[in-house]
Amino acid sequence: MDLGLKDRVALVAAASKGLGYGVARALAAEGARVSICSRSAEGVRAAADRLAAETGAPVMGIACDVTDAAALQAWVDQTVAAWGRVDALLVNAGGPPAGLFVELNDAHWQAAFELNLLSAVRLIRAALPHMGPGSAIVTITSAAAREPVARLALSNVMRAGVAGLVKTLADELAPRGIRVNNLLPGRLDTERVAQLDQHTADKLGITFDEARARAVAAIPLGRLGTIDEFGAAGAFLLSPAASFITGASLRVDGGMMRSV
Ligand code: NAP
Repeated sequence: MDLGLKDRVALVAAASKGLGYGVARALAAEGARVSICSRSAEGVRAAADRLAAETGAPVMGIACDVTDAAALQAWVDQTVAAWGRVDALLVNAGGPPAGLFVELNDAHWQAAFELNLLSAVRLIRAALPHMGPGSAIVTITSAAAREPVARLALSNVMRAGVAGLVKTLADELAPRGIRVNNLLPGRLDTERVAQLDQHTADKLGITFDEARARAVAAIPLGRLGTIDEFGAAGAFLLSPAASFITGASLRVDGGMMRSV
């Protein structure tokens, strides 16, 4: 199936590794021009070079902390200056720290709001003037947006906010021919998930391997997903092949979520 992504311009946030990198790789493999960002200048440039070498697609890597409004605008502006427009926008950021409600103070809540909700608002606002009919936005949230996860109070709340934003924008942007969808990762094999499994191990006094085994036991497909499996879902939703899909939340979780 041709996804129709050849030469399209994609902005992929928080993509030097992990899920964002997986989506960037899938888009580049389909021939899209891909601009990625992450905080580490060295990390993001190395990732861009790797993606370009692996896929042959034009890839640029720009240092940008998604909590910095000016840096976000500069990333969008640099990309548009080079390639003229934005056809696909992947909204992503690092995850907030784990913790119970009683362990969290105002600074934790403010930081999570800025990292996981306000950054999405700002990035979409910055990119929208460059997006036309046929373009698409996809957010990465979490299974926690639908089924709150123990010890992840910050994520549970902020992801639900982004899911509400996606549904709102799907309505508001439909008349402009712009689609907006949301990806709900369950447990894909990334550094973030390894950190969460270590956190669980520390809290429960068990080993990392035991914590990992318990997590995998809750996944019907019996393993963590790969970033390439996640990337394929992201590239599809961002592509013209998904032209009648908007306002959807797609779970990529190996069957982990229990809700119908
Ligand atoms: P990851 O492996 O830790 O990768 C995070 C990526 O984001 C890195 O490229 C990192 O690069 C970049 N990043 C982090 N903070 C940033 C910031 N403030 N500004 C710009 N870039 C930033 O994480 P992941 O597993 O891919 O997770 C991506 C998102 O999905 C997170 O919000 C996570 O909580 C959520 N999620 C993931 C899973 C999963 O199964 N993996 C499940 C549920 C939810 P730098 O360090 O260079 O900035």
